[in-house]
Parts: sequence; structure tokens; C-alpha cells
Amino acid sequence: MKIALMTDLEGTAGVTSFSQETYPEGRDHILARRLAMAEVNAAVDGFLEAGAEDVLIIDGHGPGGLWFEDMHPEASMLHGRPTAPRSVRDSVLQDYDVTAIVGQHAMSGVATSNLNHTQSSRSIFGLILNGNPIGEIAQWALYHGAMGLPMIYLTGEEDACAEAETLIPGITTVAVKKGLSRESAVSVSKEKARTLIRAGAIRALQAHRSTPVAPLVWEGPFVLEKRYFHTHDVDRYDGVAHAERIDGQTVRITGDDIRQIIYA
Ligand SMILES: [Zn+2]
Repeated sequence: MKIALMTDLEGTAGVTSFSQETYPEGRDHILARRLAMAEVNAAVDGFLEAGAEDVLIIDGHGPGGLWFEDMHPEASMLHGRPTAPRSVRDSVLQDYDVTAIVGQHAMSGVATSNLNHTQSSRSIFGLILNGNPIGEIAQWALYHGAMGLPMIYLTGEEDACAEAETLIPGITTVAVKKGLSRESAVSVSKEKARTLIRAGAIRALQAHRSTPVAPLVWEGPFVLEKRYFHTHDVDRYDGVAHAERIDGQTVRITGDDIRQIIYA
């Protein structure tokens, strides 16, 4: 079993602030990256313990959110910004069997979710796909579901776990903090987080072996409404095929191939 392990920074225990921790200029940004790396390593450890033969870590936080020096010795990392073209990246990921996410936050607009946002905390108000509000979990699961990869495991903030469970029947989740508001949470200790995440990874792989989780696939055609905070972000869709501005801050993107629109 080969595992493509996506990561984010905002769902890490102990990380609560955009300005101080998740933005690169933040005072405690490096500390946050090290906490995230350790949680990711705990998941790698659990997957290997449960018999995985290969774990590829994907550094998914906007500008990068891990700390390579401390990476699990048996893992490898797909990282660097700007990111590779999707076709190049997908040629690597298509060799993997399942996907998982460590360090995830809930979609924008979930009032109790610590660090809730979708794609960009600075520019995107929210996404609606075929009438359903979606966040980063659905984006990742649908994109890779179309490649045949089921998402079997997610860790992070409590509302993110609930979001994943609603989307993906059979997924295993582990919460390491409970959000109280956008920049406040109750976190477990870093030691407890790692213990929970390692054990959860073992359970997730075992559960998937006995009752396989299906790749997340929705019926097309697809209509993605992407609402921004500012009008200039919608200006750049001017003239783009299959994109239509429906008001100052919102663009509607349509298509039959989920992989062509979900990150457009
Ligand atoms: Zn994120």
C-alpha cells in the first residue's frame, strides 16, 4: 500500500493564529512548522507500522508548512514553491493507492472552527459546488477521487473531522484540537496529538483493508461558484473559457471534468 499524505498547517495542535503562526512572516511560524512536521511524522510512523510500503508527504500549506530537517527517515516529501504543474505532480501521485490529510482545518464560514478558511484566508470568501458549500477537504478528495485514490484518514481541527466524515463514508479521523472561534482553540499536548495521530493511522489502514473506503466521486456536470473578498481577484477570469463573472466578487466555473475546475 502506497500512501500520498497531504498536509496542512492550520489543523495542527498548538497552532491557532494566522498572523503569528501560519503566515511566513509570523513570529512563531518556524515553531508551527516543526509542530506540524512532528504530527505528520507520527502519521507516517503509524502507516508504516500498519504495513504501508511507501509514504509520500505532500507539503500542502500555501507557502509551505513543514520542516524538512526533522522529516521521518523513511518518508519522502513532495514540496517547493511555486508548485509543479498539475500534470507533472499527478504523474507522481498516480502511483499511489490511497490519500490522507494531516493538519486540516474546516471550510470558511464555520464559526467554531479554528483557522477556518478555504484555499486562501486572505482572498476567498467561499466555494459552492453544485449547490453545496465545500472546503479544502472536498477539493482534495474529489480531485484525487477522480484519479481513483480514496481518502482514508484525516487529522486536525474537530470541525474539519466532522466535515470529512460527512463527505466520506468510512473515513477515519482524529481531532487534536477543538476550535472555539476563528483564532482560538483548545489543543491537546503535542505528545498526545502525536500518540493519537499515530494510532489513528494504524486504525485507518486496517479499516481500509477490511472495508475499503471508496474514492469520492460526484456526478457531473459541475458548477463551481467561487466568491472572493475583493473584485480584482475575479478580474483575472476575464476571457477565461468556462468562467463567467456573476457579480463583482463571484465567478462561476463550469465543466464535466472535476479535475479541471476544482482548483481553477
Ligand atoms: Zn488549508
